[in-house]
Amino acid sequence: MVHRRPRIAIGLVLASLSVTSPGRGQPRGDGRQPGAPPPLPVDTSEARLLLRELGPRFGATYTPHFTILSDCGTEKAIALGELGERVLERILRFAPKLGLDAAPPRHRMAVLYFDDWREYETRARAAGIANAAIAPGYFDERSRRCVMGEYSNSPPVLARRREIEASRRRIERQAAEGDDVREASRRILIREAQIKVGEENIHRTVFRHELAHQVLAEYGLERGTPRLRTWLHEGLAMQFETDDMPNGFRRLDYLQAPRGSRSVPMREVVADARVLAPDHDDSAQAYASAWALVYFLCETRPRALGAFLQGPTESGQAAGALAEFEAQFGALDGEFERAVRRVIEGSR
Ligand SMILES: [Zn+2]
Repeated sequence: MVHRRPRIAIGLVLASLSVTSPGRGQPRGDGRQPGAPPPLPVDTSEARLLLRELGPRFGATYTPHFTILSDCGTEKAIALGELGERVLERILRFAPKLGLDAAPPRHRMAVLYFDDWREYETRARAAGIANAAIAPGYFDERSRRCVMGEYSNSPPVLARRREIEASRRRIERQAAEGDDVREASRRILIREAQIKVGEENIHRTVFRHELAHQVLAEYGLERGTPRLRTWLHEGLAMQFETDDMPNGFRRLDYLQAPRGSRSVPMREVVADARVLAPDHDDSAQAYASAWALVYFLCETRPRALGAFLQGPTESGQAAGALAEFEAQFGALDGEFERAVRRVIEGSR
């Protein structure tokens, strides 16, 4: 089964991410933070196989826990690997709070990163993602690999760039005719900067989300049946989409449902995984509810959540997702939702 992404609005602002090079192809030796997890061995036969399959444009770049197979160039591949390292560190700090022990995988986690959008799209489509433009990355649960596309090469971003180019040419003509174009030029620069920030945010939030799925699965922190627990699976990955906690984007989505969109009751989000399908009309709000619910459980009942993550009870699983939830955490009613809202409102 393949994980899919929900819609994410472009134009969100996120603190800038510093890209530090860990040294090409080498684990960070002395530069590693004290207490940082030890590097994992490289699965050289997997890397070789993948490189043969992907073709000569692709190369392998390594960070201590990830193997990035990419045609995007070393700098971008390292930036992606570093993002993965940060997600991993966050998750390893988070696990003990829930009483969970992370069990490292045998090898570095593989991430495929495509510069060529059509190639990414073809792969995503084969994995069941109908609209790659809203999902520049996914975690393939079967191969346990992340697959990412370079969003700046996607049709929506290229179309926006073409619009800007057309506006620029128009302004040049007007300037040649002696018009005052300072205001228009300023607007174009702002628009360009917005697009760039939007692209970076999409990369970071989507990539971090998918990397979180990969780390949670590979370090054995999520057992049970993901299909029955989509709310938990997604809610957990969303905790790691941003550098800081709580996730400001999801928090805003939860507290201020955009006009015309429906806030989705948590009961429904837990009971019916279909509201979390990316093509569902209310998916953005359903994701926000799942994020809020998991954040609440992490903050108020971390040990119960940890036990729940270690595997479903037989009876709970047979009775369905909602019964399984309520057996562990109590009735998911209006009272419960109000308690969640109070915690989220007070979380900043
Ligand atoms: Zn997900």
